[in-house]
Amino acid sequence: MNDREILGIFHEHGALLEGHFILSSGLHSDRYIQCALVLQHPQVAERLGRELAAKLGNTGASVVVAPALGGILVAHEVARALNARALFTERQEGRMTFRRGFSLARNEPTLVVEDVLTTGESTRETMAAVEEAGGKVVGAGSLVDRSGGAVNLGLARTALVTLTVQNYDPSQCPLCRDGIPARKPGSREIRGQGSGSTVRG
Ligand SMILES: [Zn+2]
Repeated sequence: MNDREILGIFHEHGALLEGHFILSSGLHSDRYIQCALVLQHPQVAERLGRELAAKLGNTGASVVVAPALGGILVAHEVARALNARALFTERQEGRMTFRRGFSLARNEPTLVVEDVLTTGESTRETMAAVEEAGGKVVGAGSLVDRSGGAVNLGLARTALVTLTVQNYDPSQCPLCRDGIPARKPGSREIRGQGSGSTVRG
């Protein structure tokens, strides 16, 4: 599948949102990609996982790791395609770590994936958790790269579709300046402009 076909799938499931959003990185944006709307369909998720696995190439990975929550299904489907294990990291006291008894063999070849790559920070933190657990990161990927390909993780990285989306520091955000309420997708929080308070919508 090419970029256009992948984007077609996202459009078809209403996963490309426009408005004023607070990304998980804390940055603001006028566009948001809600992968969960695509991944809610297991057959579509499986197909995207297969595509991403193929694009990641022959790395010999026996495990695929993603940061929770958004990446879990991506890791699961890439792992299905590779006949590998699927694990996820979670934040514990602000630190990305393996929980639930997950472990890696010494130098186990590991892929790190996520749904949407914006700054690459959660992938980076997951890579660090893999190394700390004794694994060896052999590649990284995401369904969507919204950095326009700018993020450098220091190793081969791929995405099914690459977009260039403008992100804003909250203090510089033109949408905040215009008083447009910001939405944190996946939650019901609405942040009023300037007040810094959080109101339940
Ligand atoms: Zn804003």
